[in-house]
Amino acid sequence: MNYFFENRNSNCVQKEVNPNSEYLKWMKFVLRRAKEVGKVELPIVAVVIDEKGRCIGRGSNNRNSKNDPLGHAEIIALKQASLVKNDWRFNECEIITNLEPCTMCAAALIQARMGRVIYGAYDEKRGGLGGSIDLSNHKSSHHKMEVIGGILEAECKESLQVWFKRLRSVK
Ligand SMILES: [Zn+2]
Repeated sequence: MNYFFENRNSNCVQKEVNPNSEYLKWMKFVLRRAKEVGKVELPIVAVVIDEKGRCIGRGSNNRNSKNDPLGHAEIIALKQASLVKNDWRFNECEIITNLEPCTMCAAALIQARMGRVIYGAYDEKRGGLGGSIDLSNHKSSHHKMEVIGGILEAECKESLQVWFKRLRSVK
């Protein structure tokens, strides 16, 4: 998927040659992983993809199992990817996740200078990248990321709804 980053600068939105195929591939992967994660945690998964199309970080929600308020999929994927990359800057990378990042994760992605954020379902309550508030366009954001929401939106939304429905029926 090198073509995504041809002539790419960190902060410029560029014309895409083939907008959806790679996103779809990774989003399907994310959804499959989320199904596994959903057995013990909120089924949210994130992957960080480098400029060569390699997955360099993977995370899933572990707030409950680790009692970690910061245990969101995006934060965990970012931390892993920064170790692999040996760098905290992600201008040439993208992150793909099934739910819109919350305000904490959106801010972390801005701090990490993520090149592009791709997510499935919008989160109208807690979303930090358009669903509730859009931090990427806020004046406090010193880094402009490309944000694409709504990839496989219906599937992403449904898998979360099914999970919450099951949770309520267990309680
Ligand atoms: Zn989050």
